[in-house]
Amino acid sequence: MSDPISSGQPSAAHPDLLAAPTWHQMAQSTGLVNTDGSIRETIFGQMTALAARHDAVNLGQGSPGDPTPDFLVDAATEAMGAGINQYAPGQGHQVLIDAVAEQRRRCYGQAVSAAEVLVTIGATEGLTAAIVALVPRGGEVVVFEPFYDSYAAATVLAGAQLRTVGLVEDGAGGFTPDWEAFERTIGPQTSAIIVNTPHNPTGMVFTEEMLTRIYEAAVRHDAWVLTDEVYEYLVFGEHRHAALASIVDDPARVVSISSAGKSFNITGWKIGWTIAAPEVREAIQAVKQYFCFTGGSPLQPAVAQALNAHEDFAQATARSLEARSKILVPAFEELPGVRVSQPQGGYFTLVDFAGTTDEDAYALNERLTRDYGFTGIPGPAMCAAGTPISEAFAQTIRYSFCKGMDDTAEAAERVRAAAAALR
Ligand code: PMP
Ligand code: GLN
Repeated sequence: MSDPISSGQPSAAHPDLLAAPTWHQMAQSTGLVNTDGSIRETIFGQMTALAARHDAVNLGQGSPGDPTPDFLVDAATEAMGAGINQYAPGQGHQVLIDAVAEQRRRCYGQAVSAAEVLVTIGATEGLTAAIVALVPRGGEVVVFEPFYDSYAAATVLAGAQLRTVGLVEDGAGGFTPDWEAFERTIGPQTSAIIVNTPHNPTGMVFTEEMLTRIYEAAVRHDAWVLTDEVYEYLVFGEHRHAALASIVDDPARVVSISSAGKSFNITGWKIGWTIAAPEVREAIQAVKQYFCFTGGSPLQPAVAQALNAHEDFAQATARSLEARSKILVPAFEELPGVRVSQPQGGYFTLVDFAGTTDEDAYALNERLTRDYGFTGIPGPAMCAAGTPISEAFAQTIRYSFCKGMDDTAEAAERVRAAAAALR
């Protein structure tokens, strides 16, 4: 994407691109501006291209390798055949609104009315619309770092500032919030806190106690809490997903965001939902409707069916991901001198190569791709520039175990070959 149109350079052919700086600031917030001013595509797109160039197993982008289940393809085909091909209503098709409300009740005991549900174009649109709708210009959005890239870009779009709180190693192969940093960061200027659990990229599952502590801080400073629950079904072992809105007495300041992509192997469908108090949902919808109005009309009833009748598929996906993590994580542990995180849920494990090499995560990832044929996402790409956590992640690479079983096994072989060569 380094064509001159996006270079920010003056051009005789069109007005100065930087006269409207938002696009540039959004790219900057996710580290996508080259030194010559040109723009790269997202780190996920870049690393997918890197893997393809070297015929490597792509453990980068969290894009599942397993096929979409027939029941979903059939339900979507049926909906198209039945003529559900025109605009969906602004709030979404009623059948999906009802299915989401019922899913929250069934899974978390959260009472949700139809007036509280908004169907969105994936969780991404819900997150961006919620941030733009609820965060005032000049306000602060607190995120746990490393974090999913869209939070930073949406914060720029809202004219707000991103503040980060590190997730630090818990001494047992997992991560925990740096509570001291949290208390230091949050204050009267905080407009919203975003919590992603299960977490991308650390694989950490926030406990009820952690979520309650975050919520109480939000109450103290009159801030919103946005939960990103896209991996809600994908928890391993004894870990359980806690939905913050279901564990507090008054969830009016909580906006719960999720989507069907990860639970049902349909990341390309981009069917998501946002749950908030009716007047809050209306405010978010007021923004959302001018992003895309609505989308995925025939896919919405299919996702409704999946939520209503096929939760067992999502649960089986969790077990299968856990099994794949148990193939990949031990293979990485064979690499000399690395530290490998033990995922509690989600799609990812983190491998910290500090102490084994001087290379940064980008150079190392390229070398491992070229020499051994497996590709991940450099950890610093999921951090803000210059933070202590981005330093701590300077030599960390994220790897996904959401690829097909064959690719996972092949990747494990290649990692073992690398381990043997590097020993
Ligand atoms: N949040 C997190 C933490 C993610 O990993 C992703 C990646 N898919 C998203 C949000 C975006 O979800 P969707 O594809 O439903 O927009
Ligand atoms: N959520 C996925 C990841 O973190 C994919 C995101 C994307 O490509 N935008 O890998």
